[in-house]
Amino acid sequence: MAGIGHRLSAIPRSLVLRAAGSHRLQRLVQGHGMRFGAARFVAGQTLDECVAVLRRLNDAGLHANTTLLGEAIPDADGAEAVVTEYELILDRLVAEELRANVALKLTHLGLSFEEELAYANVERLVARAGRLGTFVRIDMEDSPFVDATLRIYERLRDAGHDQVGTVLQSYLYRTPDDLERLLPRAPNLRIVKGAYLEPPELAFPDKRDVDRAYVELVERGLRGGAYIAVATHDERIIRHVQAFAEREGIGRDRFELQMLYGVRPALQRELAAQGYKVLVATPFGPDWYPYLMRRLAERPANVTFFLRSLVRR
Ligand SMILES: Cc1cc2nc3c(=O)[nH]c(=O)nc-3n(C[C@H](O)[C@H](O)[C@H](O)COP(=O)(O)OP(=O)(O)OC[C@H]3O[C@@H](n4cnc5c(N)ncnc54)[C@H](O)[C@@H]3O)c2cc1C
Repeated sequence: MAGIGHRLSAIPRSLVLRAAGSHRLQRLVQGHGMRFGAARFVAGQTLDECVAVLRRLNDAGLHANTTLLGEAIPDADGAEAVVTEYELILDRLVAEELRANVALKLTHLGLSFEEELAYANVERLVARAGRLGTFVRIDMEDSPFVDATLRIYERLRDAGHDQVGTVLQSYLYRTPDDLERLLPRAPNLRIVKGAYLEPPELAFPDKRDVDRAYVELVERGLRGGAYIAVATHDERIIRHVQAFAEREGIGRDRFELQMLYGVRPALQRELAAQGYKVLVATPFGPDWYPYLMRRLAERPANVTFFLRSLVRR
C-alpha cells in the first residue's frame, strides 16, 4: 500500500517540479503569490522584513539561517551583486545579534558558468563570516552541480576555513561515497532527502529507499565524527536520531535539527522546548518562485493551500 501511495504522490511532485521551469507560470505566480500563499514559506521580499521574522524565531527559542533567494545567475556582474548583498546580510545579522547565519547556493554566485568565480565569491563570504564569528552553509543543488559543490567545499576547508558547511542528499546513490570522502575533514554536514527532480540512474525513485539511506547517512556521519544538521520534517526519523544519539552517547552538541520556515512550526517549538538546537531555514527576497515550487512539490496539500489562498482573496 505504501508503494501505491508513493506512486500517486510522485505524480504531482514531478509535475510541480516541472512547473518550476515555466517562465509563463513564474510571471503569473510571482506577480501575486507573495501577497497570498507564498508568505507562509518566505520571510518577505526585503532584509528588513526578514530580520523581523528572524527576531521572532529567536524569541521563540529557535535558531535560524537566511538565504537571499535566487539561483542560476547568468553573469559575473550579477554574481558580484549577490556577493555584495550577502556581505550586507552577514554584517546585519551580527550587528542585530541574531542567532542566525547564512545558507547560499553556489549557482547564485556564478557556478553555472564559472567554478573559479564561484569559489572566489564564496571564499570572500566565508572569510567574512569567519571574521564576524558566524557561519555559511553551502546548499546542495541538482545533480550537475554536486561534484563542483563538494570540490569547492573541500578547497575552502583546505584553505583553513572552518566556519563553513555543506549539504548531502540521501536520494543520490553516490552520497555514501561522498560522505566517506568528506569524513576525514570532520565536516559540518546538513543531511537532506533531496528536493530536485533526478533521474532513476542517479537517485532512488522509491521514497522508502531515500528514507533508509537518510538514516544510514546520519548514523554514519555521527559515528564518523561529523557535526550533523538533521534537516527533515520526518518525525519518525527525528525520533530515531534522538534515540540513536542517546544510545551511542552522542552529545547534543554534535548535531542540530533543521526545518523550513512555515513547515511544522509546532514541532519546531516542541523540539526546542525539549532542549534540542532547532534551526529554521528562513529565506527572503524577490526571486522566490523556484523555492516556492519545490516546497509545493514536497507536499501535494501545499498546492491546495496555495490555490485556496489565491481564490479566497
Ligand atoms: C533546513 C532544510 C534545508 C534544506 N536544504 C536542501 C538543500 O540544500 N538541497 C536539497 O536538495 N534539499 C534541501 N532541503 C529539502 C529536502 O531535500 C526535502 O525536499 C524536504 O525537506 C522534504 O523532505 P522531508 O525530509 O521533510 O521528508 P518528507 O518525507 O518529504 O516529509 C516528512 C513529513 O513532513 C511533511 N513535509 C515535508 N515537506 C513539507 C512541506 N514543504 N510543507 C509541508 N509539509 C511538509 C510531509 O508532509 C511529511 O509529513 C532542505 C530541507 C530543510 C528542512
